[in-house]
Amino acid sequence: MPIDNRAARVRDQIEMLASVSEHHQYVQRTFCSLAAKLANDMVSGWMHAAGLKTRVDNMANLRGVLPGNNPQGRVFVMGSHLDTVIDAGKYDGPLGVLLAIDQAARLEAGSLPFDLEVIGFSDEEGVRYHSSYLGSSVVAGCFDQEQLSLKDAKGVSMQQAVEKFGGDVTKLSKDQIPKDKFLGYFEAHIEQGPVLEEKNIPVGVVQTINSQERVEIKVQGVPGHAGTTPMMIRKDALAGAALMIAEVEQLAQKDHENMVATVGKVDVFPGASNVIPGNVNFTLDLRSPNYERLSTFSKKLQQIFSGITQKRGLTYSWNLIKTNKSTPCDDQLTQILSEAISQAGYPVQALTSGAGHDAVAISNLGPVALMFIRCKNGISHHPDEFVATEDIGAAIKVCDVFFDKLSQQMQ
Ligand SMILES: [Zn+2]
Repeated sequence: MPIDNRAARVRDQIEMLASVSEHHQYVQRTFCSLAAKLANDMVSGWMHAAGLKTRVDNMANLRGVLPGNNPQGRVFVMGSHLDTVIDAGKYDGPLGVLLAIDQAARLEAGSLPFDLEVIGFSDEEGVRYHSSYLGSSVVAGCFDQEQLSLKDAKGVSMQQAVEKFGGDVTKLSKDQIPKDKFLGYFEAHIEQGPVLEEKNIPVGVVQTINSQERVEIKVQGVPGHAGTTPMMIRKDALAGAALMIAEVEQLAQKDHENMVATVGKVDVFPGASNVIPGNVNFTLDLRSPNYERLSTFSKKLQQIFSGITQKRGLTYSWNLIKTNKSTPCDDQLTQILSEAISQAGYPVQALTSGAGHDAVAISNLGPVALMFIRCKNGISHHPDEFVATEDIGAAIKVCDVFFDKLSQQMQ
């Protein structure tokens, strides 16, 4: 099938998948939701049509295998995630899964010297349980079982959600790809940034994925009557948290090594206009290309938080949700990808990724490569997220050469 037609098919699939949502006004597919089930059904149909043998594993990942020509051969994985943020765009995640299915459709069963496994991961964004890479960490064998007791906003534990979806939490380890069977991982993903657009290039090669730390901060004060508690004796958790949040921004602004820090969610308790806030919980998201630098930043912030809370008679806790070191992409796979981009007729643009991706978790198994695709104005996690059909075509062209080269080298 000509590349233009394949790009148009991927575009149609993107549109159809975007209609599968938990919400009738916008795109939202969270871990183990009904929308996630419907999305798995829809994408599984496309996998089937592409000649893949499909199944949903115990962590709700959708997986399809195109067997290679060696029954004892290893497995090469291409995929991305099918979950989304709230009020999401259509491309973040699904585009990488659909490009992988497009490759499987092009390649004949038995034509590759390895099995090709296409995976639509069940949770990368971490919306429901505030813990990302749930799907890929099971495939990579680095899933932390304690997370099964985490509860969502409605009090449903992860274990309950997985079981309701049809998974068996006692069998998660069976869904891991054995390390000695794993050949490598390739992910295509939208850039979620402005570099490719600025340079007017459709695709880029990621060298490193930034380190990241996710923390939940709980500030405890004393609630009181807004009318009768004198200012001097108040222990206002929100006034303290506001200062802490301002420090997060200031400290990151002073860093000249691309450190970024964000407070994206604040909950105030009891949350009434006439009550002094007794408790405030807020999230903290720290990222840097340099893990040591991120750790230093994190320690400095904890010192500052201690100073602010002590001065105001408050207490606080620093609950580390997740930490990831920076993930370097594999030299050999990245070399093949760079050559593929060049052969497809595009300049080779190296990038670092400020966002985390499933490739981070999968790197526990072995080599990973990551290709970025230009998105309009660098906008992502928003309904305006957009990738031009020609750029989807460019990505397809690169993937074709990438797999042809890979299969030659792995003979
Ligand atoms: Zn993504």
